[in-house]
Amino acid sequence: MNNSTQRILSQCLRQTTRRRLNVRCRRWNSTKPTFETREWSTPLARTLANVIKTTGPVPIAAFMRQVLTSPEGGYYTTKPGGGGEVFGKKGDFVTSPEISQVFGELVGIWTIAEWMAQGGKKSGVQLMEVGPGKGTLMDDILRTFRNFKPFTSSIEAIYLVEASSTLREVQKQLLCGDAATEETDIGHRSTSKYFDVPVVWVEDIRLLPHEEDKTPFIFAHEFFDALPIHAFESIPPSPENQQPQQQEIMTPTGPVKLDKPPKPANTPQWRELMVTLNPKAVDENIQGEPEFNLTLAKASTPSSLVIPEISERYRALKSQPGSTIEVSPESRIYASDIARRIGGASEPPRTTSKRGTAASAPIAKRQPSGAALIMDYGTMSTIPINSLRGIRNHKTIPALSSPGLVDVSADVDFTSLAEAAIEASEGIEVHGPVEQGDFLQAMGIAARMERLLSTEKDEEKRKVLETGWQRLVEKGGGGMGKLYKVMAIIPENGGKRRPVGFGGGVIM
Ligand code: SAH
Repeated sequence: MNNSTQRILSQCLRQTTRRRLNVRCRRWNSTKPTFETREWSTPLARTLANVIKTTGPVPIAAFMRQVLTSPEGGYYTTKPGGGGEVFGKKGDFVTSPEISQVFGELVGIWTIAEWMAQGGKKSGVQLMEVGPGKGTLMDDILRTFRNFKPFTSSIEAIYLVEASSTLREVQKQLLCGDAATEETDIGHRSTSKYFDVPVVWVEDIRLLPHEEDKTPFIFAHEFFDALPIHAFESIPPSPENQQPQQQEIMTPTGPVKLDKPPKPANTPQWRELMVTLNPKAVDENIQGEPEFNLTLAKASTPSSLVIPEISERYRALKSQPGSTIEVSPESRIYASDIARRIGGASEPPRTTSKRGTAASAPIAKRQPSGAALIMDYGTMSTIPINSLRGIRNHKTIPALSSPGLVDVSADVDFTSLAEAAIEASEGIEVHGPVEQGDFLQAMGIAARMERLLSTEKDEEKRKVLETGWQRLVEKGGGGMGKLYKVMAIIPENGGKRRPVGFGGGVIM
């Protein structure tokens, strides 16, 4: 082959290849991406979409659990940079303990007042926090305790319940500094930098032993709003929702035929709101359409048959078609567990789902002791509705978007927590909820700020202190002082004593 033949040949080859490529490119462009080839907002979106495609719509609780704490792309568990990027100015949201050190200091003072009111036990005090975030609240509480030696010498251990290993590491650095960490059969363990007591991490409160006659002080700040919720709507009786759907129920592995189908309902029924794929996004590829949306289940689900029956509050709404309710069974499990640690219980918990964990036995307690402080945003007494929200970069965005990159939370139903706590233990009583602004004022935030300001000369730092304080107590325009609530669980005392901040005074 001479040179010119070779040139012509290679030119032909190039043109053919280009033409072939063009053809393929054109064909590629004209074809809509399929379910398998489409670009999902996040890898977790793809995983969730596959699950929904295979098994059908999933309860909000299952979706929420995955987007927040899945080891593969969950918001708290794998957000790049860990806790530093979740909380604070640079993160997605700011919480009260992160706004001002005074918040944790007052929670510390509340704890000491409660310990004194219960007779100031000399040993067996446990400090527990569920969902400690960056560890700031616990750090501020412990710093405050340093000035109260009789109390600090009674502390035996600090327990932290944290699902995220990244955040656990952030907490460890703050609370234990360079102390070594070891793995244990229930989680991890290090030593507090303030006192010579162990700091123990577990991923679920049910892994913590229920020891007899301990005095646990338990804190939960913006923890319950992260626990998964189910949502239900009451639908009127009508021929199409009685038959044939009532012959089968939706389960996580698809529809299941009932052996003994319930009689056609002539009363309203609960239907569960489920997360499903949005066909406009997934099948039609319409730009701007969300990948996931909510849909009402076509038939009963195991959850819709059981969960709304656990409380008279929900049962009362069932008869009014169109009623919606949000329920967080996991929050009730936590509230029950906390109550039993403080008040003891002669019966094992009804709600134990993890067989073989510490929670499956009754808890003997000669005398109820300890207390819990639950701080969160939510409703005073009504059942939350439509409260599922997504937050990213300090802005509210659709809760189901970009799974794993968005903080998803829901209003806390304080009455439901109180109900679960009282049902779980005869040895406790519940106070509140009260608004955060009122609680902090009653705890003396004004006097504490005055003292801090009197020694602070730096103008910038004074400003930070002042604006922080105002943000915590402000009640106007959706201020944190009104939006956030505080509820206390203390040992039952026949209504003779109210805790500080809930109408009670300090008992020395
Ligand atoms: N209390 C902190 C952080 C609030 S964010 C503050 O107010 O600043 C919620 C915290 O709960 C995070 O630490 C998160 O990792 C943890 N968390 C969320 N869901 C959890 C679960 N199911 N089990 C244990 N920890 C969880």
